[in-house]
Amino acid sequence: MSEDSYKILGFDVGGTKISAVIGNSQGRIIRKLEKPTSKNLGQERLAEQLRDMGWKAMQSAGIKSVESIGIIFAGLIDQASRTVINSPNIPGMRRFPVGKILEEEFGVRSVLENDATGATIAERLFGSGRFVDNFVYITLSTGIGGGFFSGGKLVRGAHGLAGEFGHMVIMANGPICGCGRRGCLEAIAGGKGIARRATESLKGIRESEILSSVPINRIDAKVIFDAMEKGDMFSRLIVEETVYYLAVGIVNIASILDPELVIIGGGLTNSGQKFIDLIKRGVREEFKNMKRPMKIVKAIPHVSDLASISLPIFFSKQDF
Ligand SMILES: [Zn+2]
Repeated sequence: MSEDSYKILGFDVGGTKISAVIGNSQGRIIRKLEKPTSKNLGQERLAEQLRDMGWKAMQSAGIKSVESIGIIFAGLIDQASRTVINSPNIPGMRRFPVGKILEEEFGVRSVLENDATGATIAERLFGSGRFVDNFVYITLSTGIGGGFFSGGKLVRGAHGLAGEFGHMVIMANGPICGCGRRGCLEAIAGGKGIARRATESLKGIRESEILSSVPINRIDAKVIFDAMEKGDMFSRLIVEETVYYLAVGIVNIASILDPELVIIGGGLTNSGQKFIDLIKRGVREEFKNMKRPMKIVKAIPHVSDLASISLPIFFSKQDF
């Protein structure tokens, strides 16, 4: 990038935490503030908290103004009006004009996207997506989501819902998903799905030395991954089953989009490189006769911090 670096104020509003960051146009995070998301905040108080965090982040970075604002919001958003349509994890966010509120406060333009699209854009600007025009980003966390570039362009779809990989059915009549359908990838291989599959097997839990000592309502994906690292066979089985379904999902995606690269991010990948290596092997096997040179890599570190500041940088280069 040859242009001079400029400062951006980024917000990331998720179901568990809210962050405000100051970053520059080169993709460097200068300051970050973080707070837990209070579930009963409501629009007024959330707006107040964002304004407050924004000013504090600027103050601690020693700046009085920014060039633009990027906002990541976990939920369905309308990009044109910078409005949250609603958020499944944060109640009371119906038609929340977060973009306009922050524009008024800070006097600069804002861009709003959901978390998965934001991370996809961050990978395009600063991650492995820089080098390829056809790539898919998949986030594996409590839920599963993503986004993709095709022919060098971000694909949003007619309603901005393209890349909802988590709601691809991989097991007809499988377990019920939050979306109302059955057998979605998210319901099986998302964080909650992993925990549910493990805790449904009482025999498996009883025979696992590690999991049998954890209260059943405390068994989550992290506990299972950690137990696998310590050599727990039942946990390894659950993870391998997860990898199988992810591989089926990824090969389905590849059959439709034919990407050169698949980038995997999200909380579940924090367990280390082993999980990614298992996914790579699973996908290689699942390709069968459709084998192709498609790479799978882990997302850049701090992709979610970079996501918010990436938005104004990316869209200032496009006509929108
Ligand atoms: Zn679903």
